[in-house]
Parts: sequence; C-alpha cells; structure tokens
Amino acid sequence: MVGGMCVRTDIILSPLPKGCMKFSDLKLQENLLRAVAAEGYTVPTPIQLQAIPHVLEGRDVLGVAQTGTGKTAAFALPILQKLGATPVATRAIRCLVLAPTRELATQIAESFSVYGAHTGLTNAVVFGGVGQEPQVQRLRRGVDILVATPGRLMDLMDQRCVNFSHLNTLVLDEADRMLDMGFIRDVRRILKALPTKRQTLFFSATMPAEVDLLARQMLTHPVRVEVAPEATTAEKVDQRIYFVHKGDKRGLLVHLLKEAAITRALVFTRTKSGANRVTRQLAEAGVPADVIHGNKSQNARERALDGFKKGETRVLVATDIAARGIDVEQISHVINFDLPNIPESYVHRIGRTARASFSGVAMSFCDAEERAFLRDIERTIRMKVPVVEDHPFVNRSARAETEAESEPRRRPQPPGRRARSSSPQARGGRGGHPPQARPAIAAPAAKPAAAAPSRRFSKWY
Ligand code: AMP
Repeated sequence: MVGGMCVRTDIILSPLPKGCMKFSDLKLQENLLRAVAAEGYTVPTPIQLQAIPHVLEGRDVLGVAQTGTGKTAAFALPILQKLGATPVATRAIRCLVLAPTRELATQIAESFSVYGAHTGLTNAVVFGGVGQEPQVQRLRRGVDILVATPGRLMDLMDQRCVNFSHLNTLVLDEADRMLDMGFIRDVRRILKALPTKRQTLFFSATMPAEVDLLARQMLTHPVRVEVAPEATTAEKVDQRIYFVHKGDKRGLLVHLLKEAAITRALVFTRTKSGANRVTRQLAEAGVPADVIHGNKSQNARERALDGFKKGETRVLVATDIAARGIDVEQISHVINFDLPNIPESYVHRIGRTARASFSGVAMSFCDAEERAFLRDIERTIRMKVPVVEDHPFVNRSARAETEAESEPRRRPQPPGRRARSSSPQARGGRGGHPPQARPAIAAPAAKPAAAAPSRRFSKWY
C-alpha cells in the first residue's frame, strides 16, 4: 500500500467479523497457527479479528487499542505471513516497528520471535541507554524486522548503520505515548527517510488531535479498527486509595477485613514471599486466608481456588501471575496490598471484581514508595482514584506529596530532551481531565458466536 506523507481521504471502520472466531479462519498459515497454539491462544482477540484480514490484504490500518488487547499479534502475525511469502536473496530490513519505550520495543521483538518461530524470519531490537555496538553488529548481520525506539534509531540512521531501501512495512505503536514523551518530531524525521511506497499500521490507545493529524499524514485510505473502551473496569468498580505507611499495611488490612460487607476478597501482593507473609499475618490476627502463587503446587493452587470459589475461603491472597486464571464471580473486594508496578496489572486486578451484574470495590494501599506506581495507574485509567481519609492508619505525608505532584507543573522541556515526563498534565491523565475524555481501557466490541476463548480474554466474549 502506498504510504508516505500523503493526506488520507477516507477511513473505513472495520466491523467485527461475525462467526469467525478461530485463528485458522483468518487465513493464517500453518507455521503461524502452530506458534499461536503453542502460546495457548485459542481464539483471536477482537483487535486481532478485525485487523489481521486487512493487514494481510495490504491495507493501511489505524488501530485504536491499548496494550493488553492483543494488538501486537494483530500486526505481527500478518506481517510475518507477508514477509515469509516473499523471501529475498539477502536479508534486509523490510519491516520497521517504532515503539516509545525500550520495554515495549523488547516485548514486541520477543513477540515477533515467538510468533515467527517457524518462519525463518529474523528480528532485532534497538533502543537507547545501552551500548550501541552490539546493536550495530546485529544489524550488520542482517534482519528482516527491526523494532526500535525513535532516539536510538535516529542515532543509528545518522551514522548510516541502517538501510531502509527494502522497507515495505512500517508499524507505529503507542503513538499517543510517543507524543507524551516528545518523540513525534523524531518520528516525522524517521518517516522522511523511509520509502513512501509501503504499508503503514498505526496504533494508539487514544486519538488526541496531534496524533490524529499524524495518522492522517501517515496513512492512505486506512481501515480503522477499534476496541471499545471498557467502561466496566474503571467505571463500574468503586475504587479507593488508602495512603498508609509500609509497616501499617498489615494493620490496615486486618482492620478493613473486619467489615462484614467484604464477603469475598482477593488480596494482591507484588511478590510470592509477600503473599506468604500476608497470609501468615492474617492467620496470626485471626483472619483465615488462603494463598495462591507460582511456588505452590498445582494441587495446592486448585484447592485454594476451589475453596474460594465455593465461598469456604473468604480471603485469598495472590500474586498477579497466579491470579490470571481466577475466574470467580462475586468477588466483592479486590485489595491491592501492594500497588503493581505495571499499570495494566492494576486494571486486570480490579477487573476481578464487579463481574457480571455485581458491584465491586477495589481498595489500594499506597505507601511512600508506591506513589510513582499510583501516578502511572491513574494515567492509564485516566482518572484520579478517590482517597479514603478516615482510616486509622493514614499516612498524611504520602498523601500530601502525591497531592503536591498533582498540581499543574508542566515546564517547557529543552529541545531534544526525551525523558518521560511525570507531570500528570504532560502525560495526559490527571488534574481535571474532562470526564468525556476518560477511559481507554480496552475491551470488546461484540459477543461471541463460537469457540471457547482463552480464559484471559473470556470477559470479551
Ligand atoms: P498485547 O496487547 O499485544 O500486549 O498482548 C497482551 C497479552 O495478551 C500478551 O501477553 C499476549 O501474549 C496475550 N495474547 C495476545 N493474543 C492473545 C490471544 N488471542 N489469546 C490469548 N492471549 C493473547
């Protein structure tokens, strides 16, 4: 498809295909289906259902979807299929994926490796903050797919270490975050160095005006695929923050669990040892609880889960990974004993409550060290979580410092500075965000027809 800086003339909104629920229905080749099956994916997610056929057709795609929706496979699988179908004599970069952070870039490259395990295609990832030489060496050996953060890629381009003359596919991931982090100018400069004849896939969780303008400039007759914001998670759940000293968390938990309204509580800790400790402390305080985490045997986990499901266990302490398979309705309360350092985990955690028609409460403890996690979470869910003021363990200084940071304080950044801004305004999430601009927490567009979805995405079908 023709790319370049031409003006888009139309956007077609792609509907969710009906009755097409298996990866094999998406005309993906056997070598990719095998890799997907090995990952344990049973059915495509909505963004995959919508995007894959268009990417295979060669259309430009505007994908409005967040991390956590399965969007990486939505572009990686069809790209791998297309590149695999046209082998070339020498390895040259045919696909470039731009991502705003090294974590995301690494994750995307890993996904290409996993999904492309049986394709013979290669990928490399380049990002700043580490030595450049190994990356240059890797590029010299030749790669089919390059995943890059804009800053390091520009450095490598300036030194003529990359050659895009064979490039036919460009993916821009998390465009809104690129904007937040001040990368849009770099992106525009990179675009100028790419062949204009190419297929472009543009992904963003939100579409503020500047991102929309960039999409218009980059895409030609794109198809828009979108996963509707999930009102359920951020809006249905009654969320509360408890500022507390680290050492008081235990006392606060015991205090809160005295509430009779807490009929079934899932308590999250960040680590397995933390989960064991909390469970032990609860037992010492006369609050029976069970625990589930990766070091427990399959039997022990199943027993714990079963007791929780049947209502025999009122309190289950869990880590994020262990909690993935927990599909229990009527969890009245999710308690974040520790805040997760990955904001998406917060969304997953609180999504365990307020299932179906039930209401739910998510109580999150935040000590002084976790304030940065809270900021990231509030940015992700695009709302400020109400603070509970009247509990016996209030940590007023953590509260005050968090409040102070919420004051508008965006300063002009010196040119070329690329550090991630922690100003709420700069990062687009807080400080009087208009309600209509709120959540962009990804989720489904439709109810399913067939096939059992993986548990992880079952809420979408
Ligand atoms: P992403 O939005 O690409 O970051 O993907 C979020 C997570 O979903 C990743 O851990 C993927 O491995 C997983 N995932 C992607 N597609 C599927 C699928 N069809 N079924 C189950 N898990 C998936």
